[in-house]
This record gives sequence, structure tokens and C-alpha cells, in this order.
Amino acid sequence: LTIRFDSYETVIGFECHVQLATASKLFSKGPNLFGHQPNSLVDIVDAGLPGVLPSLNQKAVEFAIKLGLALSCEIRRESVFSRKHYFYPDLPKGYQISQFDKPICENGVLKFVVDGEEKSIRIRRIHIEEDAGKNTHVDGANFSFVDFNRAGTPLLEVVTEPDLRSAKEAMEAYKALRQLVTFLGICDGNMAQGSMRADANVSVKKITATELGTRTETKNLNSFKFLGQAITFEARRQILELESGREILQETRLWDSNDKETRPMRSKEEAHDYRYFPDPDLLPLVIPDELLASVKKNLPELPYNKFVRYQKDLGLSEYDAQVLTSEHIISGYFEEAVAHHNSPKGIANWIINDVLRSSKDNIDEEGLTKDSLPIPAASIAELVKLIDSQVISSNIAKGVYSVLENDPKQSPAKIVEDNNWRVVNNTDEINKIVDQVLQENPDEVEKYHSGKTKILGFLMGQLMKLGKGKLDPKSANQLMLDGLERHKNHQ
Ligand code: ADP
Ligand code: MG
Repeated sequence: LTIRFDSYETVIGFECHVQLATASKLFSKGPNLFGHQPNSLVDIVDAGLPGVLPSLNQKAVEFAIKLGLALSCEIRRESVFSRKHYFYPDLPKGYQISQFDKPICENGVLKFVVDGEEKSIRIRRIHIEEDAGKNTHVDGANFSFVDFNRAGTPLLEVVTEPDLRSAKEAMEAYKALRQLVTFLGICDGNMAQGSMRADANVSVKKITATELGTRTETKNLNSFKFLGQAITFEARRQILELESGREILQETRLWDSNDKETRPMRSKEEAHDYRYFPDPDLLPLVIPDELLASVKKNLPELPYNKFVRYQKDLGLSEYDAQVLTSEHIISGYFEEAVAHHNSPKGIANWIINDVLRSSKDNIDEEGLTKDSLPIPAASIAELVKLIDSQVISSNIAKGVYSVLENDPKQSPAKIVEDNNWRVVNNTDEINKIVDQVLQENPDEVEKYHSGKTKILGFLMGQLMKLGKGKLDPKSANQLMLDGLERHKNHQ
């Protein structure tokens, strides 16, 4: 039996949970923070105590509108919070407050690029919901722990249409979504901490078929790599099933990143299993004109607009503009440096060739976090300023940068002073060294005067070496030529 994998097409739509960077929880004043002592951030509302009432976080609503506008969605002016019921120990109320048939945003589009080609995926809806707590299962023990710190964390769930056709497309679309939410400032984009989690819906069909196949949903993919691997695995598994004459079961699966496979978790639940109904504790969410207008007005510059502006207004190359706008943290760093010293091209070069390269151990494939760039942007600005004002040569600047790499908090100007690294362009000082070079290399000087002028390179090399790389190259070159003339006349 030969299996024609290439007669099939993979179809993907994803659902993504975006954790909102608000100060407090969605319906309580509990702090919205990561990495604290278990159960130390739990408000009575999030613990689901009897008699408490939810009170909606206005910031979360603004963030939802922001993302909706950035994805060209229709913003529903009157959306409704519903209760989604299920039983699990990490859900103390016995229901999750979410949005069901009247979500806040619908019908948008996300643009992304695959191998230089612009693509898009339709966004079906974005709704606001609260997160649950977290169970920790102890290997071999007959008990589990539950931590409610995450309970009530505000989330946006972004649901796409099944428009993607490969794992690569899915990864690029997901990267574009991460780029967008971080530029909007609504999510820190920290995938390792679960700030974004994707569920991948995957089906396969014969390329010629018009109807979509039965899909599975693989839950909780918390990296681009896992998203891609899970889709690739799942498509292959489904093709093998179909080719063996079996049907695809519509089910929820999980990704095992150790064994690199998806495994069945449960059969797919239907909406009616959740017994959705409008939450009687919450009024419909009405978006007034003024709120919509003010969010629109304060929408930050989006990555694509920055990409264009960096080229048009700052004169950067397309490549430089692309690298600098690939991550919110990088463009922020670049703009902060330029605010200190207005030399975009020089600063861009240092960031791309040096800062990002020497920080690559702090940058995993899921992108940067706020600790990824230890050298302050102001120091890069200062370094470029020292070069631009010809206090140091670019060669010496490399040395200054090496010091910064080991001790990021030092000031470049102070490093230059401490090491006596200022450029020497004092004529007397350079002439002294020129004379020394000419005296020490009489044969080469003679060769030069006999017409073998290529020897000048060697003499300049000696000069710069004796000058410890600090001589201003232009003055040094001129003074060497003058020196050679002087010598000739003296002969
Ligand atoms: P439900 O209503 O059960 O949540 P939907 O059909 O509305 O399921 O879609 C949920 C997600 O699954 C969406 O992201 C959608 O793009 C995706 N999806 C739907 N059908 C398919 C399919 N045949 N193949 C791949 N993904 C699909
Ligand atoms: Mg869902």
C-alpha cells in the first residue's frame, strides 16, 4: 500500500487564549500576576464564595475593543456574558463566565506573511472570558493540588475560520497574532508562562474534495514549535486513518511534547453540554460611543505601519525595518535609543548586529521577554553618539561594547575615559608615531619612494598598531603621506 500524502490537504483553524495584561482580575480586585505563592492572589469573587457578585474590569473591555479594531472586527455594541458550566476542581463556581452567542467582536481578518507572500485568515469572533485555576497532579500520589491564583484572570478567546492550509501557515499566523497583541500592549506575549495558548483544529481532505473533513482539536499548545509539530503529526495521523479505511472521530486531543504525538483526551463536547445561559449577575455589556471613539483614537502604531515608517521616515532598509518591528520589545528598544540620540541608521546597525546577536541566549524561539536585552537602550544611544561625534572609532566601539556585554550597567562614556580610548587626532601626537614608523622601516620607505606605493598599506598598519587603534584614520592617513614626502626631501 502506498499512501499518497500529497493528494491530501490539511485544513486548520485555531482558537487562541490571550491573557490580558490588566492590573486586576476580570471580575474582582484580585491582582493579576504570575509566579506567586499558590493561592496567595485569590479574591473572594474568584474563589466563588457564596453571595459575592462580579464587577467587570473596564480595562479588559478596552483591550478587547483594541484587538477587535486592530483585526478589523465589527464591535458589538451590546454583548452578553454567559455562564459556561462544567465540573472540575479548578473551577470553584462550577461555571466559567464567558461570552456565548453575543461576543464583543466578530468578523475580522488577520494578515500575515509566509515566505514573503501576504496571506490572511478570517477571524470568526473574539470573546471575553475568565480563566480557571490550575490543578497540579503529583506523580504516583493519590491526591492533586489546586492553585486558584489564575482563577478569574481576564482572557480574550480569538477564534479563526478554518482558512489555514499548512503547519507553517498556522505558525506564521499565530506569530502575527502574538506580534499584534504585544504591540497593542494588551498581553505580554510570554508563551512560556502561558500568556498565549492555542488550540489547533485540524482536519484533512482530498485536495479535490470541496467539503471539509472531520476535525480534531488539540488543546493548549504553548509554543510556535508545538503548534507546528502537533498540526503536522495530526494531519499525518488522520491521513493514515483514512487510508486504512477508518473514520476520523471528532475529539479533543492533547499534545505530548516528550513523545511528540497527540493523544485522545475526550470526545468533543457540544455547546448544549455546557448549559450556557446569560449570567444574571451581570448586565449586558454596552459600549458607549465615547469609549469606542477613545479606544480608536488611542490605538498605538501597529507593526506594519512602523515597518513602513522606519523605511520611509528613518531611511532604514527593508531588512532592518523588518527585524526591528518583528518584536514589540525590539522596536521599543530601538525607539528609546533614537529618542536619546537621533541616529536611526547607526543605532539600527548596533541593535541588529550586536545587541540581538549577543542576547540570543536570552531569546528563545517564542520571542523576547523584558529581560532579554540587558544593555540599556540609552547606552547603545550613547555608544553611537561617541562614534558619530568622533570621540571613538568604530573599532574602539567594539571594545566598548565588549565591556558592556560583561557589565551592561556601565556607561560607555565612562568606559572610554577609564581606558583612555578617545580617538587621537592631535597632529603632533600622530606625527610622533609616524616618524617612529618611518625610522623603524627604512627598507619599506625606500620601496615606497621607488614607486612600490602598495607598501603604504603595511606602513599604515604599523602606524595604527602603534597607535593602539585610537588614531583617527583620516588624519593618520594624511599625516603618513605627509611624513613620506618629508622623508623623501630629507634623503
Ligand atoms: P464549535 O462550534 O464546536 O466550537 P466550530 O465549527 O465553530 O466548532 O469551529 C471551532 C474551530 O474549529 C474554529 O477555529 C474553526 O476554524 C475550526 N474548524 C471548524 N471546522 C474545521 C475543519 N473541518 N477543519 C479544521 N478546522 C475546523
Ligand atoms: Mg473553545
